[in-house]
Amino acid sequence: MNDYEIDPDLGQEFASPDETYETPPDHRSGFVALVGRPNVGKSTLMNALMRQRIAAVSARPQTTRTRQLGIITAPDYQIVFQDTPGIIQQPRHKLDEFMLATALETLEDADIVLWLVDLSENPGRIERDIAGKLAELPESTRVLIALNKVDLVDTADVLSQTEGYTSLLPRAEWLHLSALTNEGIDLLLQKLVDNLPEGPRYYPVEQTTDVFMRDIAAEFIRAQIMAHMEDEIPYGTAVVVREFKERPNGVTYIGADVYVERANHKSMVIGSGGSQLKQIGAAARKDLEELVGGKVYLDLWVKVEPNWRRNEHLLKQFGYQQPTEK
Ligand code: GDP
Ligand code: MG
Repeated sequence: MNDYEIDPDLGQEFASPDETYETPPDHRSGFVALVGRPNVGKSTLMNALMRQRIAAVSARPQTTRTRQLGIITAPDYQIVFQDTPGIIQQPRHKLDEFMLATALETLEDADIVLWLVDLSENPGRIERDIAGKLAELPESTRVLIALNKVDLVDTADVLSQTEGYTSLLPRAEWLHLSALTNEGIDLLLQKLVDNLPEGPRYYPVEQTTDVFMRDIAAEFIRAQIMAHMEDEIPYGTAVVVREFKERPNGVTYIGADVYVERANHKSMVIGSGGSQLKQIGAAARKDLEELVGGKVYLDLWVKVEPNWRRNEHLLKQFGYQQPTEK
């Protein structure tokens, strides 16, 4: 696999401290909504663009449940990314409805919609649905199709695979990408900047996300549960970080509750003699130590909360607020 160098001048540091708080008169800024079916690589792309791990990456779909912002600030532009929950075909319960509503609302608010697809797979019904929704956006909304995972496609097949997607939405510009190897990342960033309207710097220079550390930690823990467990359980799992504090000895204490829907799920997550939970905890702790840049003591508790996904009160308590209440 090739590794592509990222141009160090793109979206990077400021040349001098003087530039930090001054925005030039032609400063560009805007919101970029990242949409696409689960598992196409949205979180991986965010991480590549941000060059640091913010979005939780998982080999399983639907790791991202709520919107997350990633902010790239350069002297003359600021891009605010919104990583949306996957657009799902048929909402099955309130959590699905919430995720779909959030994704659609993000589209309407965006200056640019970045539709990420998996070029190594053929477009399916979800892609046709998404294309239909994007076709209805006002002309002023730029739509860019990023054909991701180009590293997985044989050169001979690239053209026909590309056609399969671009023909669904002729109005959109498109480009090839590999969020994993960084191929096309610089070009993508350039295209986004070119399409941004003029506007102010919305967030302070040093701010890279508006997601709280606690929420990132919860996503990291949930990603490890998903990575370690069989189907069916993970989607009924919520993680709430109760406590997140650095202790005088320099160790960050993170106390988190893992909510599952059934008693037998609880015993599966814990495993015989606690072996499963131990593995999940060890893997999550490694990720969290990278996040905080130091030692972490992770205290994980598994709790049963029947049908939380259908319970509006619990959804709110777990941080899945209705998008209209922002
Ligand atoms: P999301 O659900 O859209 O946020 O997808 P993720 O970012 O969690 O990625 C899903 C899976 O696809 C992970 O295993 C990634 O490592 C993998 N992936 C993402 N982008 C690429 C890519 O460009 N090439 C390859 N080969 N794999 C990728
Ligand atoms: Mg994701």
